[in-house]
Amino acid sequence: MIRKTSLMLTLILVVTLIGYAWGSPAKTINTDVVVVGAGGAGLTAAITAKEAGADVVVVEKMMIIGGNTLRATGGLNAAGTVYQDKAGIKDSPDVHYEDTMKGGRYENVPELVRTMVDNAAAAVEWLNDLGANLIQVNLSGGSTNARSHAPEGGGAVGPAVVMTLQNAAKERGIEVLTQTKAAEVLVEGGQVAGIRCETKDGELIVKAKAVVIATGGYGANPDMVVKYRPDLKGFATTNHPGATGDGIDMAIRIGAATCQIGSIQTHPTVVPVSGIMITEAVRGQGAILINREGKRFIDELQTRDVVSEAILAQEGGSAFLVFDQGVRERLKAIEDYANQGLLTEAGSLQELGDKLGVSGEVLAETVAGYNKFVADKSDPDCGRQHLDYELNKAPYYAVEVTPAVHHTMGGLAINTKAEVLDEDGKAIPGLYAAGEVTGGVHGANRLGGNAVADIIVYGRIAGAEAAAFSGK
Ligand SMILES: Cc1cc2nc3c(=O)[nH]c(=O)nc-3n(C[C@H](O)[C@H](O)[C@H](O)COP(=O)(O)OP(=O)(O)OC[C@H]3O[C@@H](n4cnc5c(N)ncnc54)[C@H](O)[C@@H]3O)c2cc1C
Repeated sequence: MIRKTSLMLTLILVVTLIGYAWGSPAKTINTDVVVVGAGGAGLTAAITAKEAGADVVVVEKMMIIGGNTLRATGGLNAAGTVYQDKAGIKDSPDVHYEDTMKGGRYENVPELVRTMVDNAAAAVEWLNDLGANLIQVNLSGGSTNARSHAPEGGGAVGPAVVMTLQNAAKERGIEVLTQTKAAEVLVEGGQVAGIRCETKDGELIVKAKAVVIATGGYGANPDMVVKYRPDLKGFATTNHPGATGDGIDMAIRIGAATCQIGSIQTHPTVVPVSGIMITEAVRGQGAILINREGKRFIDELQTRDVVSEAILAQEGGSAFLVFDQGVRERLKAIEDYANQGLLTEAGSLQELGDKLGVSGEVLAETVAGYNKFVADKSDPDCGRQHLDYELNKAPYYAVEVTPAVHHTMGGLAINTKAEVLDEDGKAIPGLYAAGEVTGGVHGANRLGGNAVADIIVYGRIAGAEAAAFSGK
């Protein structure tokens, strides 16, 4: 009996010890640079750091990589590219700078904008050298000139960018650990020393000489959104579920400062309930917005804050985006919307109005009036500047849209070297950040196409600087 009991106790002890070993902290990896977040900014930083000779590990909390970058449908803003040249578009980084500052109501940090616009054309070249094929140039809201670079045929920019970066990272042997959530930036002896992560198998410590935070924004964290913008309570979001602001919290805990943290953008054309965003390029290619009276009410290519506000002021707080077959033919991205069943289609404007519950007669009059504005190159009703295409090719299409939380312009304070700053404006040695997790580039309102420019430009800078800091 005694022997039996002691055997049982020994067994329990062994099982407990094994269990402790399994649950015990932590596997440890050593590297030069650890990048937190495998979206556009993070993958760009990782590739750049690796090319500079650093060992790099990327951690990503979701099962798949790509973050909000994967959702980007419009394009990448860059001025002075060969693709603009080929299309006969005259543009310059100075005009891009002025548009960005004006769009951001001059609240942007000027030197951060300067760095973005001066390096955006090189960012397009860099991506295209890796195989992205961003050669079509579209017009986006708030831009004086067409400078939003998208894949040939007008396909969505985000999937092309993510696939290109994923392949490039793979070819360079960069380790990307998915389902690995960074929870803490480690500091040893006053120096950034890596990160602590949570994984399904327990804790993981990644020891590194430099840390790049590229965790994206916080548009999918309703508590954080309402904390900074109580007026946005109850708004839907266009963001992927991982956009919860983790990197901002982590960096604040080790002394980082934030910049314009409460600056949040709503996107004006989001399908109610589903939260699917209809890219600005649809308006850029000629679509108009009408209200329930069948009338236009705003220059459709005004900045997002202005268009959002105008839509919310209409009956029902929503509007209809109306376009013709010509727009559909010019923009491949529309095929995705059609495949998802988002479009109401009709053979005539009269019929389209009936289907929408809007007077078909008024709708037909509105479109005829708009076509005349295009012919006259002057829009006395709404002041639209870009009047390039008449809407006269059947079938006609419509989709109901309303604003939703889209982009968090505020975030960690950085300088032009992508170094994260503390409350005294001093760089925290070894800590870098790039992309939507940072603040200051976009000011009070981001222009469509500027975020993808931001993540590639600052991703490259963060990667190069982090590699140099690590001694490579
Ligand atoms: C629907 C939609 C369409 C858009 N279209 C355009 C467009 O056409 N042009 C444009 O310029 N901009 C567009 N934007 C904005 C742009 O896509 C984003 O601002 C940009 O891609 C953000 O890139 P990022 O690398 O900073 O972040 P993300 O791409 O969001 O990547 C961040 C990654 O970090 C991961 N992460 C977060 N927390 C942790 C953690 N604790 N540990 C590990 N990983 C973590 C996330 O899961 C995510 O994968 C669009 C945005 C949306 C939502």
